[in-house]
Order: sequence, then C-alpha cells, then structure tokens
Amino acid sequence: MLSFDIRSLESHAAVVDEALSANDPVWQSDDPKPDGAAHVSGRLSAAGPGRFYWHGRIEGDVVLECSRCLSETRAHVSDEAHLIFAEAGDEDIDDPDVYQLDAHTTELDLRPALREEWLLAAPAFALCQEDCKGLCARCGADLNAGPCGCEDAVRGSHARSSHLHRSR
Ligand SMILES: [Zn+2]
Ligand SMILES: [Zn+2]
Repeated sequence: MLSFDIRSLESHAAVVDEALSANDPVWQSDDPKPDGAAHVSGRLSAAGPGRFYWHGRIEGDVVLECSRCLSETRAHVSDEAHLIFAEAGDEDIDDPDVYQLDAHTTELDLRPALREEWLLAAPAFALCQEDCKGLCARCGADLNAGPCGCEDAVRGSHARSSHLHRSR
C-alpha cells in the first residue's frame, strides 16, 4: 500500500518499502510504465501541522521504444525525491515541490507524486543498442537484422544510368 492514514502519520513516521505495479490505476495509458513494477523505498513523516515530508526513491526499468528501430527496449530509472505534502491553505502551496492534500482528507496517497517523479526521471529517448542501425528509410526493414537490399538497388540503378549517359 502506498496510501497512508494521516492520523497515524501524525504520531508515527511510515517506513516505505513497496512495489508500485505497472498495472496500478495511477498510470495513464500513454505513460512510460515500469517493467512489471517500480520499487519505492523511503520515509514519510509529519513535518508540522497538516504537513508531511517524503524522502525516498523510486527505481525500476522502464519499457520504451527504441527511437531508431522502434523495437521494445529498456532503460533503468532511479530517482531520489524530497517532497512536501501540505493541506490546502498552506502558504507554500505554490511551490512546485509541494503537493496539495485535499481538505479534510484522511489518507495521504503517495502514488500520484511517485508517478510524476517517475515520468520526470524516465528518459524520453532510448536506443536498443548504442549503434542501432535503425530502419531503412525506403522499405522500413530493420537494418540490425542485416542489409535490406535497397542500397544495392540504388547503387545498381546509378550504375545503369551513368552507363546510359556514357553511351548517348
Ligand atoms: Zn534500435
Ligand atoms: Zn530497404
């Protein structure tokens, strides 16, 4: 569980060592989701009336498309965060590192903040291998699997046309 009872947090800090599953409803359909689950570890504690402090880490592999050949690839994400959760009306609520809690809520749900941290930390681009050859611009073949033949065809037609020029 990544949701905490605010009353009990006020008296005892929570030590968190949990998995955030890729199937969790907090993820939206276009999110780069964790491969299986992300690991969340840290500590959530009261930091004054109506304020809570999270110091922790979210870590896992993210599944992405290789930006050259579009095959499925993985990148490691590991992000440490210090966040403040504050009840509405707190003077620091405009601070982007302060998450607003709903008035009169009895639960502090870490997941939306964890999702944001994950999305910020996940790379926007990845390559399946450093020297990925990508897809052929002509026929779309995956050039990592070997030459597709387009280059030979182009070279062949060039050779033919220069031959024609010469014979004219
Ligand atoms: Zn690739
Ligand atoms: Zn080709």
